[in-house]
Amino acid sequence: MSKPKIKIVRALKDLRRIVGAWRTAGETIGLVPTMGALHQGHLGLVTLAKRKSNRAVVSIFVNPTQFAAHEDLSRYPRDEAGDVAKLASAGADLVWAPSAEQMYPVGFATRVVPEGAALGLEGEFRPHHFGGVATVCCKLFSQVTPDLACFGEKDYQQLCVVRQMVQDLNLPLKVLAMPTVREKDGLALSSRNAYLSAEERAIAPQLHAALRKLAAAVAAGRPIRPATDAAREHLQGAGFHRIDYIEVRDGQTLHPYDRAKSGSGRVLAAVWLGKTRLIDNVEI
Ligand code: AMP
Repeated sequence: MSKPKIKIVRALKDLRRIVGAWRTAGETIGLVPTMGALHQGHLGLVTLAKRKSNRAVVSIFVNPTQFAAHEDLSRYPRDEAGDVAKLASAGADLVWAPSAEQMYPVGFATRVVPEGAALGLEGEFRPHHFGGVATVCCKLFSQVTPDLACFGEKDYQQLCVVRQMVQDLNLPLKVLAMPTVREKDGLALSSRNAYLSAEERAIAPQLHAALRKLAAAVAAGRPIRPATDAAREHLQGAGFHRIDYIEVRDGQTLHPYDRAKSGSGRVLAAVWLGKTRLIDNVEI
């Protein structure tokens, strides 16, 4: 059997030419933004993009502006050849893999500054993160000009930030979300799971367990404060070294959850195992 064809594009003019030809042929385009080191969560987004549009473009770009100086940019896992093989099998049509110099040429001086959903949670512990995410997503959207872009609920706050940006800036695309893909034991798939030692990997699923328990307690009407305290104790007892946050929020606005007003609720957390920071969330 011949290998599935996939284009790897590194120059914006080539991207525009190929996407332009698809558009002329009346085809629609779905974009899946990623930072590479791809797993089944990413590939599920490609399947979604292919189901909802004619062409699936996957960007692979480890975006330096969403990492703070002390964060894991330099050790972030990279495996372009492996990623491309997976994407070809998943039916993606094109990999957009620009260099950092192409994305941020000398003199680059414009930034998207998201507020609203970007404030608090990740925004508190990684103050520049969502500015970097929103700016790079805005650039990717104007480079690829997709009809739709697919994001995972794994990064729930990011999804809310991107949705808000698309709405606020009238960007002409739809944002589609996909539920978090997990290991059998509940651990959310993440490129960063590769950092975990065997011992840490054994503890990691307790994050999902604690989130589920807290969501169930809130759904059952238990007051939020004591239920959240119990979840903290669960995480500490399981062996997480540090808890950045575990919070019950409104599923749309990410404001504190209000039983009377919030249509849907979300429990979100960020915790540390050694040098690895894990984030996860579940619906209430
Ligand atoms: P990343 O490469 O980590 O920036 O992620 C790229 C996209 O994949 C984002 O929309 C993530 O939310 C999504 N994603 C990452 N992990 C998962 C997962 N376990 N399930 C679903 N989507 C995911």
